[in-house]
Parts: sequence; C-alpha cells; structure tokens
Amino acid sequence: MDNNEKDQISRKSFVKQISLGMGALGTGVFFPNMLFAQDFLESESTKSKRIIVIGAGLAGLSAAWELKNAGHDVMVLEARNRPGGRVSTIREPFAEGLYAEEGAAAYSNSYTHALKFIDEFGLEKIPLAMPDSAITYHLNGKKIEARPGEKVNWPYDLSQEEQELGPSGLVQKYIVNTLPKVIGQPDMWDKEPLVHLDKLSLEKYLRKQGASQAAIELIKDTQWFAAVPGKSSGLSMAVSDAGLFMGSTPFILKNGNDSLPREMARRLENIINYDTIVRGVRDMEDGVSVSVNEGGGIKTYKADKVIVTVPLKVLETIQFEPDLPSAKKKAIKDVPVIHITRTFLQTDRPFWLENEVSGMAFTDLAVGNITPYINSSTPATNPAILESMVAGPSAAEIEKRDRQENVQKMKAEMKKLYPEIDEHFMKGHVKGWSQDPYALGGPSWPAPGDVTKHLKSLQQAHGNIHFAGEHTSILRSTMEGALRSGVRAAKEV
Ligand SMILES: Cc1cc2nc3c(=O)[nH]c(=O)nc-3n(C[C@H](O)[C@H](O)[C@H](O)COP(=O)(O)OP(=O)(O)OC[C@H]3O[C@@H](n4cnc5c(N)ncnc54)[C@H](O)[C@@H]3O)c2cc1C
Repeated sequence: MDNNEKDQISRKSFVKQISLGMGALGTGVFFPNMLFAQDFLESESTKSKRIIVIGAGLAGLSAAWELKNAGHDVMVLEARNRPGGRVSTIREPFAEGLYAEEGAAAYSNSYTHALKFIDEFGLEKIPLAMPDSAITYHLNGKKIEARPGEKVNWPYDLSQEEQELGPSGLVQKYIVNTLPKVIGQPDMWDKEPLVHLDKLSLEKYLRKQGASQAAIELIKDTQWFAAVPGKSSGLSMAVSDAGLFMGSTPFILKNGNDSLPREMARRLENIINYDTIVRGVRDMEDGVSVSVNEGGGIKTYKADKVIVTVPLKVLETIQFEPDLPSAKKKAIKDVPVIHITRTFLQTDRPFWLENEVSGMAFTDLAVGNITPYINSSTPATNPAILESMVAGPSAAEIEKRDRQENVQKMKAEMKKLYPEIDEHFMKGHVKGWSQDPYALGGPSWPAPGDVTKHLKSLQQAHGNIHFAGEHTSILRSTMEGALRSGVRAAKEV
C-alpha cells in the first residue's frame, strides 16, 4: 500500500468518526506514517530514588509505571478511592451489568502509549462504528431522523456545496483537507507550519478556509471538538483533535474504559494510597515533603522528587513552597478548562430501537448531544441508558441546578427526540466535572494564543517538583496526552 492509499483510508476513517460527532475525542490514523511515538524509559537507572507521584489518573499511573520499572521507590497519593481520575466508568446506580462513561468516552487506534498497555494487558477493544439505524438531529427547531445513506436537508443557510457536504463533509473540506501534514507529529507544535495556528481560533480558522457562518454553526452543533469554536486554539484543535484523535478509528474497552487505569493500578500493586488528599508540597534542601489529609488526620511524606499530576485548576488548591514561579501561576489561572456535564437516564429497555432509531442524537437543544448505552446481549428485555452531554458555558449552569431537577429537565428535553421516554424512564444520574473537587472542570481547553504563551510553563519543573497531566501536553484533553506526559515527567526525574 503506498502512502496515498494509506492517506485515503485514514481520511475515510476520519470522516466516519466526525460523523459520529466524536471529533476531538481521539485520533492518530490520519497520517499513520507520521505518527510520533515517544520512547518509554527503557533501562533500570543506576541510583534508586524515592519518588512521590500525586494523582492516580493516567498521567500519574504512567509516570509511576515507568519509574517503578526503572527500579525507583515510588508511592502514589490519590484523593479518590479509585484510580483513573477523569477516566471514570460508572456502574452504580444503574441496573446490574449496565455501565456508562462519565469521563473519557473513547480511545483511538492512534494512541500509541495507550495501545502499548492495552495490548500488553490483553484488554478487549470494541471499535466504534456508525449506527445502522437512524441518527436523530434536532437543529434550528427541526427534528430529523437520518437513516444511513439518506440525504438530509440541513436547516441552515448553507451554500449549495455546503448543504451537499453535511457536517462530516464540512469538517473534511475545511479542516482535514487544509491542515499541514505535520499535525501527525505533535512535538513539532512550536515550529512552523503548526505554531502560527495558535494565533487563530477554530472559528477563525474555519472562516479563513472559506466556511460560511452557517457551516460553522452546523459544525459547532454536531462536533464535540467545536463546542466553543471562538475560544478554541486552532493549534490544539489541529494537533490533538485532528492530528491525534481523528487520525484513526475510535474504540472503547469492553467492560468500560476504566479497565486500563484499573489494570495499571492493579499491576502497580500496593504503591497507591487512596483517599489521600494532598494539601501542600514543600521542596527543602534535603528533599521534598508532601502534606496530606489521610484517615481523618494530617500526615507528611518525604521523597527525593515529586511528580504532580492533578488537573489544571486543582493545582491552585495545593500550597507549593517555594511559591510557584509567576509564569506558571499565570498559566494555571489563565488557561481555560471546558465545562462538561453528562446526564444519564436509565430506561427499562432501549425502546428507541423499536422505532429503528439508534439513540444517537445531535442537537442544539439544552440536552446537547445524546449517546445510547446498551450493554446487554438481550437488549429487548434489559435496561439501557440515554446520556446527554453538554459542553461549554451551559454545562456550568446545569451543574448549579439540583440534580433531580436537572434529570427532570433533561428528560423533558429528550422527549422532543424520543416521545415515549416517560413510559420507560427508571432513574437518572448526573456527573458535573466542574463541581468535582478533584477535577474542577473538564479537560484543559487552551484559547487562541494560550499554547504558545503557557504550555512550556505548565511543563516546567520547579526544583525537585515535576509536573504532568493532560494540561501539560500538546495533546490536551486526551488519555494519550496524559499517558505521554507521565512518561515525559518520569524521564525528567
Ligand atoms: C467528560 C470528558 C470527556 C472526555 N473524553 C475523552 C475522550 O473521549 N477521549 C480521550 O482521549 N480523552 C477524553 N477526555 C480527557 C481525558 O479523560 C483526560 O485527558 C485524562 O484522563 C486526564 O488524565 P490525567 O491523569 O491528566 O488527569 P486525571 O485523570 O484527572 O488524574 C488526576 C488525578 O489526581 C487526583 N487528585 C486531584 N486532586 C488531588 C489531590 N489534592 N491529592 C491527591 N490526588 C488528587 C484526581 O483524583 C485524579 O485521579 C475526556 C475528559 C472528560 C472530563
């Protein structure tokens, strides 16, 4: 197969993903020959160090994994009672065997670091395919049920060509076909031709490529990565969403996406202290001390080096001594995170299938976009879930509501799409990431200019205190970015 053919294949799979509305959630198959795989730590270091890793999300787990394998004495301190952080598969309060994703929704076959672990652990991948029944749209007041291959009349003031292209064709025309090929090489982000993309918002980028305002609206309403197009760095979009996630086929893990962090944590054995909330990190002449709330009291742990992997805004809740440099503090304050709220409605069965509707929906309604979860092999008689995902400023508003009130509101909205929902509804669950004290938001979401201004400061070590986490990676907002950042910090240490 020559490179042209490979390109065409990967472009096809890209379109498949954007049709799934999964734009920014994964990538890598886009320019397969250009994928950049960062090296792992290979050999045992000569002098073992005592290292504390703060946070057992994917960044912390990958740092701990590398350092433990290299022969260091590692301890992980984690505030929650589970590993995985923002990779969070939720099983309760749902019916037995039913689960859904509160956080990261999909991996991508372009995630080289994730795949290394997934393959080594023998975890089963389930490719995400386009549904073979209708996708529902509710856009500009019009409900559309689009069956595979059916032509849709998009209710937007589009040019004739844009009308023909539809959402995935628009992304193909204005983004995929126009980005420099080096987007498959994330470490090139601070060089031309990539770096200038940081000056542009996604919206400006689209306009520059000739997209009409209506086309931008349609992309915004149907593509996850375009939730706040005027406030998204064109560079982050290009490298993380287009270059990585959309570069290959997305997949989920059987039994939930948390199978990866859980298995990593299990194999790290007993080096993770759960229910341990870090409050302060102090770099002294003879090492670093970390003060924590644990078991109802205050404790202090000591190490030669510390790697801090807590989410961007959580860094502001930890007291660092000496104080963090002003450039790092400004980066932590100024780089935005995106608000994401998911509302899950369990129903007695996937009743929507009876109308030959897939349950997948893209809307400009308050309910956002909808994903169905059907885990049972006998769905006709078993409960299922419809999940609403709202991203952007309205997600923060939803989180201020009482949870039950929110469930009722979302159910009322879903009725516009699935009129029989009241007869089938059993229970609801809400996950608001901005209200979660150990996340304080969804993933980091640099605005135009933020990557060039702040990324290096976010990565920068502060004496013996090192930093990792998705927000320190150009591959922001991805599990892969988190894993690679952990390896980078482990190498520094
Ligand atoms: C709603 C949503 C959807 C997403 N969708 C996708 C997707 O489809 N695909 C994809 O690749 N990525 C997705 N992401 C992004 C992905 O989940 C993250 O990039 C990645 O999981 C971040 O890992 P991390 O280790 O950097 O941070 P985290 O996973 O947040 O880990 C940080 C850890 O630090 C702990 N911690 C916090 N404060 C303290 C403290 N004071 N003391 C001790 N421990 C503390 C936290 O509990 C947490 O376990 C999504 C994220 C969200 C929120």
